Amino acid sequence: MQLDYNSILLALGFSGLCLAMTTLGLWLSVRAERFIMTWAAGVVFVVANIFVYDYYVRSPSVPLGMFVLPSLICGFAVIYAAALQYRDHPHPFRQPVSIAIVFSGLALLSLSLGYDGAGFLAQNLGCATLLLLTGYVYWRGRAEMPVYLTTLALLYAACGLSFCICAVVLIADGQMVLGHAPRNWAENLNIVVSIIGMTGIGAITLSLTQTRLALRHRQDAETDPLTGLMNRRALFERYDHRRLGAFVAVIAFDLDNFKHINDSYGHAVGDDVLCLFATIMRRNSRPMDQLVRLGGEEFALVMPRILPEKAEGAAETIRTELAAEFLQTDMGPLRCTVSAGIAFGTKEGSSFEDVLRCADQALYKAKRDGRNRVIAGNWRAVG
Ligand code: GH3
Ligand code: MG
Ligand code: MG
Repeated sequence: MQLDYNSILLALGFSGLCLAMTTLGLWLSVRAERFIMTWAAGVVFVVANIFVYDYYVRSPSVPLGMFVLPSLICGFAVIYAAALQYRDHPHPFRQPVSIAIVFSGLALLSLSLGYDGAGFLAQNLGCATLLLLTGYVYWRGRAEMPVYLTTLALLYAACGLSFCICAVVLIADGQMVLGHAPRNWAENLNIVVSIIGMTGIGAITLSLTQTRLALRHRQDAETDPLTGLMNRRALFERYDHRRLGAFVAVIAFDLDNFKHINDSYGHAVGDDVLCLFATIMRRNSRPMDQLVRLGGEEFALVMPRILPEKAEGAAETIRTELAAEFLQTDMGPLRCTVSAGIAFGTKEGSSFEDVLRCADQALYKAKRDGRNRVIAGNWRAVG
């Protein structure tokens, strides 16, 4: 069977349509990912363009060209906006819309003056710019999922380059007035690259959404919603079966008289105190430390690779910073305190549960001794 140019264009259009429909189905189940909807809208524009372009190839006319030229640019502009949305850009549509207006304007102006070749040149340059920028956006964000995002960036770049080549060939051949759709080897290459690119981009974009969603679900399951700190379950999962060496410190914190704060000032103020304490913990920890809300008003700080005096210093700073802070409430300023117990792993290695138990025992001693203090595992008062 001999496949002609129009059949290939139609096949490309139908595969794009399937992709857009699959994406729409995916979006309906994952509304949180706005970028996927924008991307699907971009694909719909491109698909619409392909079907109309297929007709234009057979019977070219200026009115049809008025749709064909800008619709492809707009489709790729929306796809570029989706990439910016994926990367949480504050104004994802601003730049794509500006680029689309400039190149669509040039294309329409050329077409209306009778220079349809120049119109296609503007279209190719616009598409190339938008696709290369889209690839660059994914490339810059590749640290999140290196294999997916690098491949996506390369596919967009390949598609962008194939549009560049079409533009170069039009210029080289001096074809500013055509009277029909451009037909040359660069156009054929462009369609082959687009088929491969679109299939790959579609598959990767869908997997990307699913993977990102799974990662977010996992992160939610591991995070305390009030303070944003790690929760107890995630901490125990992380340290399950691990032995803690002598330079791992576990600090257990418990806010003092917290029930009284709740009873006197209300639960909402109690929540503010919990958030304030989480902020103070963040301020006094290193990126490698684990900051955990164990539950209620109990927190833990796990500090790997640290000298005992440094860990004790961190616990003491957290205690004094909380004691020095005044929380403004409707009933006047509120001052809170915290008690802490510290324990360390051992040279031969101890289980996490054992070390946390020791830290808890030190914490109980801090409470018995009058609260607002830090006690080390050997019952020594710190500070
Ligand atoms: P101590 O100094 O001995 O630790 O006394 P305490 O009052 O801090 O300890 P207690 O265990 O008696 O009270 C803890 C309180 O923490 C009781 C509970 O209502 C409150 N609490 C637990 N979770 C939350 C929460 O998410 N928000 C608020 N506002 N309060 C909470
Ligand atoms: Mg408690
Ligand atoms: Mg308490």
